Amino acid sequence: MSLGADDRKWLADLTSGRVRYEEPMSRHTSFRVGGPAEAFVAPETSDELSALVTGLAGRGIPYQVVGGGTNLIVTDAGISGVVISLGPGMSKILIENISASRFMATVMAGTSLRLFCSHVIRNGLKGMNFALGIPGTVGGAIRMNAGTALGWISDVLESITVLYPSGLQETIGRNALSFSYRKLLLPRLTCGEALCHQTIIVSGSFSLAGASSTDLKQEAREILKNRKCRQPVALPSAGCIFKNPPSGKSAGELIDLCGLKGLKIGGAQVSEKHANFIVNTGSAAAADILSLMDRVRQTVFKRFDVNLEPEVIVIGN
Ligand SMILES: Cc1cc2nc3c(=O)[nH]c(=O)nc-3n(C[C@H](O)[C@H](O)[C@H](O)COP(=O)(O)OP(=O)(O)OC[C@H]3O[C@@H](n4cnc5c(N)ncnc54)[C@H](O)[C@@H]3O)c2cc1C
Repeated sequence: MSLGADDRKWLADLTSGRVRYEEPMSRHTSFRVGGPAEAFVAPETSDELSALVTGLAGRGIPYQVVGGGTNLIVTDAGISGVVISLGPGMSKILIENISASRFMATVMAGTSLRLFCSHVIRNGLKGMNFALGIPGTVGGAIRMNAGTALGWISDVLESITVLYPSGLQETIGRNALSFSYRKLLLPRLTCGEALCHQTIIVSGSFSLAGASSTDLKQEAREILKNRKCRQPVALPSAGCIFKNPPSGKSAGELIDLCGLKGLKIGGAQVSEKHANFIVNTGSAAAADILSLMDRVRQTVFKRFDVNLEPEVIVIGN
């Protein structure tokens, strides 16, 4: 526990009472697992977010930002400090025409990636179809450099605006950003504190081209149909659980070759449909998923000498 009575009063005042205590994170993750957040706040404006972050940093209270929770495993013990959830309250899309055929979409971090993709398709803008079907928010997608075989966020991202614990906001162009497979390395400003505070992505700007909305819609239908055939979308998961190794067979192929499809620990199971998905069959705890991940890693390492690296982010005590 890191919140005292004075901190709780400050949080209640700042959020007009919207702060929730002991909020089950299973309500905020696509895996539907995770213990309680000591406090859970969903800011409704950039100003509220900024006041929250500077106040938390000033008080030495740890915080953790989450988007749609679609790439997260929250431990069963839950999270000390404050979880800041960027969702519908921090959602906005602004499109500007920057030349005859180029457009810049500036999107707030809490915007659903699905909503952004369908918005640009409707408006005849090309560039985001690669991301169709990826759940979560734009902020989470930028942080994870989300992508598919058709492209990555880093292909279309022009700049991001970040918020530091000091309250300072900075816009950073793509050339100053460091992307890798499923990761954007976020810059940190040293704030001279022992606590590790996270830099928050407030918005991102994407470079898009004019195109036929009808053609984009046709392409979108095919991409979504293809995904549905390959992925176990009916059961809770966090998408691909391991990153693909830099060369050779994909993580899914390696797991499949080890005969691990269908392997179960508690309520967690290696999907029968896609070996790189672990699904929650209904009653999984985070510990079941983590144990199953360990078992899969050990088995693949023993057989192929390949160390699978998790793609999902594990947070919590
Ligand atoms: C069925 C399914 C299919 C999926 N398919 C794909 C796929 O094809 N490709 C792919 O890349 N991923 C896929 N994923 C994984 C996931 O959807 C993506 O990684 C997504 O971009 C995560 O976004 P989120 O908002 O849910 O982030 P979260 O899961 O909430 O957070 C992920 C990380 O980002 C950080 N974060 C979130 N928001 C911010 C912010 N505003 N500022 C700073 N840090 C932030 C969090 O702290 C955390 O470290 C899939 C997941 C599911 C459940």
